[in-house]
Amino acid sequence: MIEIKNLVKKYGENKAVDHISFTVKQGEILGLLGPNGAGKSTTMNILTGYLSATSGEVLIDGLDILDNPVETKKKIGYLPEMPPLYTDMTVREYLNFVFDLKKAGGTDRKKHLAEIMNAVKITDVADRLIANLSKGYKQRVGLAQAMVGNPEVLILDEPTVGLDPMQIIEIRDVIRKLGKHHTVILSSHILQEVQAVCERVVIINKGKIAAIDSPDNLAKTLSNENKFSLRVAGDERSVLDIIGAVHGVKYVKSLGRKEKSSIDFLVEAEPDVDVRPLIFNGLAKANLPILSMQAVDLSLEDIFLEVTAKDRNIASFADIDESSIEIVAAKKETNKEDDSDESNL
Ligand code: ADP
Ligand code: MG
Repeated sequence: MIEIKNLVKKYGENKAVDHISFTVKQGEILGLLGPNGAGKSTTMNILTGYLSATSGEVLIDGLDILDNPVETKKKIGYLPEMPPLYTDMTVREYLNFVFDLKKAGGTDRKKHLAEIMNAVKITDVADRLIANLSKGYKQRVGLAQAMVGNPEVLILDEPTVGLDPMQIIEIRDVIRKLGKHHTVILSSHILQEVQAVCERVVIINKGKIAAIDSPDNLAKTLSNENKFSLRVAGDERSVLDIIGAVHGVKYVKSLGRKEKSSIDFLVEAEPDVDVRPLIFNGLAKANLPILSMQAVDLSLEDIFLEVTAKDRNIASFADIDESSIEIVAAKKETNKEDDSDESNL
């Protein structure tokens, strides 16, 4: 459906987009995820033909957008970062105006606009001035504008920016529904957003692709980190000492008291070492019962930091403040206590 090949966009010496290639399948909801300045808007502006690339090509249904601007633009609806709304028009006037602008003839205008307003739920404000609408409603009008002419592809640049949590949920819901009949590319710097809406994610950072996969697969790829949390009833210092002494433990960190009589800990072990039985035995001997133990799944946030960490020279995991980690001296003497304490279990 959409093929992006080796796209480069330079602003002077600065490469905003640096050899980006990916494809988008028909009917897919694809997310472009990256921090501010990653090159998301630039990529989208090129996809929609608003900006020309320094090099590389974009094909829509096999047609190059530069060679076939009219045909390809008809296939694409675009919600830019700043939707060009005419705030002194009513919603209905504005959508009629866009209809004329896009020369969307051939369709029954009234019916078409009514369907769009219904889809994004703005029928009840059709005759209100855009200036008087809330940010959430304005964003829906922006979406409606992109849908005029019934394009197959919708390109939505940060569609939930500036909305309150309720409005975010509503817009996501609208996007998911649109995804049933459209190919959607949306950008976001919010991980939960792409996780909630997209089937596939392209992570970009500094103009380069850091990873492409489904949100689930991205989580799986990096989930064998041998990292888990546990809840222990007992003294914090003793638990840290005992776990820290276990061979194969990279670090142990207290996460603080989550329940009245217990403390949570985060442990990371060396790859391919199962330290759990040793931790269990060690704590049991000291009469420090483990109340729960579970693997820590990486959130997309962890993954994002992981795949971009090389460039930014920072700690791999979002939730760990390096300075607070109890660094464990490698391979302390294993405790050779006698077994008499086991009666305490
Ligand atoms: P994003 O949408 O991911 O936040 P952008 O595509 O807007 O990122 O910007 C990517 C990079 O290109 C940034 O470093 C930005 O400063 C630069 N950039 C964007 N637009 C221009 C422009 N018109 N002139 C010069 N540099 C630009
Ligand atoms: Mg942007």
